Amino acid sequence: MQRFETGRQAALALRPDHPVYCFRPSVLAADTRAFLQNFPGKTAYAVKTNGESFVLATVAKAGVTAFDVASPAEFAAAREVAPAAEQLYMHPVKAQSDIRLALESYGIRTLALDHPDEFEKIHRVVQAFDVDPGAVSLFVRIATRGAAAYELSKKFGAAPKEAIELMQRVHRQGYRVGICFHVGSQVEDADTYGSAIATAAQVRAQAKVPLVGLDVGGGFPAPYGRDPRGSQRPVPDPVSLIGEIGRDLERHGFTDLPIVAEPGRVIVARSLSVIVRVMLRDGKRLYINDGIWGSLSDSWTGRITLPARLIPDPARRRRAGKAGVLDDFRICGVTCDSVDILSRPFWLPETVDTGDFIEIGHIGAYSLSLRTRFNGFYPDRFVEVSHPFEDDRDGLEGFANVETWGEVAPEPLSGQDG
Ligand SMILES: *Cc1c(COP(=O)(O)O)cnc(C)c1O
Repeated sequence: MQRFETGRQAALALRPDHPVYCFRPSVLAADTRAFLQNFPGKTAYAVKTNGESFVLATVAKAGVTAFDVASPAEFAAAREVAPAAEQLYMHPVKAQSDIRLALESYGIRTLALDHPDEFEKIHRVVQAFDVDPGAVSLFVRIATRGAAAYELSKKFGAAPKEAIELMQRVHRQGYRVGICFHVGSQVEDADTYGSAIATAAQVRAQAKVPLVGLDVGGGFPAPYGRDPRGSQRPVPDPVSLIGEIGRDLERHGFTDLPIVAEPGRVIVARSLSVIVRVMLRDGKRLYINDGIWGSLSDSWTGRITLPARLIPDPARRRRAGKAGVLDDFRICGVTCDSVDILSRPFWLPETVDTGDFIEIGHIGAYSLSLRTRFNGFYPDRFVEVSHPFEDDRDGLEGFANVETWGEVAPEPLSGQDG
């Protein structure tokens, strides 16, 4: 990858007409280490959040020794960069042939489930391959409720009564038993974890089987953008959120058990930005060369405001408006359908115009894995950038409505007219 200090330098040097991703390995390593240092248990990076090999390799190099995987492609991706790392197969509903591959070829010995029929599938494979059930840990996923930007608890998870029966059955057959949950993604209040931990404690007390661990899943929030006119609550700082989770674990008597987390977004979100180009400005609409079907699908739910910074094209000499005044622009994506309009505006200087570049920050989570080839567009060019997205202050005309953890963004920077 070509290297630059900032996204702005990359944009001005390359003048790209198609999206370019800026990968920030030092930011990824720092965010990985911050999680590892603060979480009181095992950290299994959730490969689905961003499974690019350069991401997995950076995460492994920063100290992650376990991966949360869900498919044969993810087993292979994790093994390729970290052959000695442990893999946790936490998808609750699996193909039997994938279970076989996991146990036989990848040596996976930790799996999740939430239904007796899934247990039968696993048990058949274990018997067929003469694996000792006592070497296999089965984590029963419990259903939880709560508020996340992405609510993911509707699809998976057993109700307490079913979970208890399943745990007892798994135990009777000689397996090691754990409890897991996953509260959703971009969870912005600690109570969501607190109530899931309380449910896990009830289930544990009633199941009365020995446990090998509690897996609290992912969902830890990453910082995103801030609508300058909105009254959004700041995103909780993951360190204090982890602290609260630790107190909940203590309160519910889980300090005797190994704890596992499966963070994705909180580790990888800040590590990538994308440089897009304004192909056309029409009033307060900006038509850009990326969109919902490309790198920006993660803003779909409307709950995430992406931070955006204008990088004016120096070739454009004349501009209307004042660079220091922000306005909200509707962002239309590159494909030929009206789904491809971002649900939230970008706040940019009113001077923005056709030909300008925009660096969209904190897209490391889910953006690359959810890209499609719809309409023939598929952003796939990468450069390496050393400075964090929020540190680029070398031009005065940009504005990044970026949220830093626990506090709101720096004030808009005033700029020069072109
Ligand atoms: C998606 C997923 C994760 C990662 O979630 P983040 O919100 O990105 O931290 C962890 N565990 C499971 C089971 C998941 O499905």
